[in-house]
Amino acid sequence: MDPVKEAERIKDQIIAWRRDFHMWPELKYEEERTSKIVEEHLREWGYRIKRVGTGIIADIGEGEKTIALRADMDALPVQEENDVPYKSRVPGKMHACGHDAHTAMLLGAGKIIAEHIDEFNGRVRLVFQPAEEGGNGALKMIEGGALKGVDAIFGFHVWMDLPSGVIGIREGPFLAGAGFFEAKIIGKGGHGASPHETVDPIPIASEIVLALQTVVSRNVDPKETAVVSVTAINGGTTFNVIPEKVSLKGTFRFYKNEVGDILKKRIKEIAEGVSSAHGAKAKVSVQDLTPPTINDPDMAQFAREVAEKYGLRHGEVPPTMGAEDFAYYLQRVPGAFLALGIRNEEKGIVYPHHHPKFDVDEDVLHLGTAMEVALAREFLR
Ligand SMILES: [Zn+2]
Ligand SMILES: [Zn+2]
Repeated sequence: MDPVKEAERIKDQIIAWRRDFHMWPELKYEEERTSKIVEEHLREWGYRIKRVGTGIIADIGEGEKTIALRADMDALPVQEENDVPYKSRVPGKMHACGHDAHTAMLLGAGKIIAEHIDEFNGRVRLVFQPAEEGGNGALKMIEGGALKGVDAIFGFHVWMDLPSGVIGIREGPFLAGAGFFEAKIIGKGGHGASPHETVDPIPIASEIVLALQTVVSRNVDPKETAVVSVTAINGGTTFNVIPEKVSLKGTFRFYKNEVGDILKKRIKEIAEGVSSAHGAKAKVSVQDLTPPTINDPDMAQFAREVAEKYGLRHGEVPPTMGAEDFAYYLQRVPGAFLALGIRNEEKGIVYPHHHPKFDVDEDVLHLGTAMEVALAREFLR
């Protein structure tokens, strides 16, 4: 069996599935329709199914080794602006990250693997997870047993920063760890003409925003990578009233947990310290969202060898400060998160992930399917 030829043979089917999922997007933990369609196909092809809410763990084959392949199924609360026949039919919801493509690609791989299961010396597990977009669906799947007995795991993300059809492979950190913070600065409100009778939280908040810029520039080792962004400031209502409170919100990103710890500590210290220096109080909450996605070097190398063997175009993919809950699987089991280039200037497919005009070059989705089949086949030799 040649995974590339098999995937080419069902290319139209993969596109049709993708379009169907694209027309009927479902938000995190609401993936009822999508998971029902996936489950029906997998049952028909002989998979053993375990349901985890709207997620699916599907096994086929027997043997000593188990490889897991994962796709995410959720869409985003975005109003689609593409004028295409398969445009989202649901107002305010859209597959703007490409998870529709991930689901279709893995469904295609599931079909090919089932048709040739005698050529796989072990067990293949397909993990269709809910709620990747800020819902940590990966954790729910792990709690539901997705990694039980698994020796290696791979996942794909379609990737706008890579030319169409190129498989991006990277050792070590690929996506960042991410967290959120919120600081409420509580001063004393009053008349805008009598600032001396108030504790004005507005200059205090401004000072905090500027001081936070020094976390990356002065506290983090210059050889490391980090981001601190204040993304919302709220306070005050009108011209002549000094408000009592101002709230700041933001996000921080990192590749190493030690760096993440520095960011969390300094954000809190700065917000509290600057506030108290001016006689105000700060209530600061710092929350972890996702750990960094770190590919196992041996598994990344294995993926490169598999791509090479089957003549699939591949290359290095630069790291990004975006985050992905695939990180949770990689904390527990060796594996790699791979990218499939979908950028196609000629077709106008250039808009970034989460943009209302985001789209994928469908003509290369079968290459992702081929790679998934090839990874399973080579791992279960
Ligand atoms: Zn996304
Ligand atoms: Zn995504």
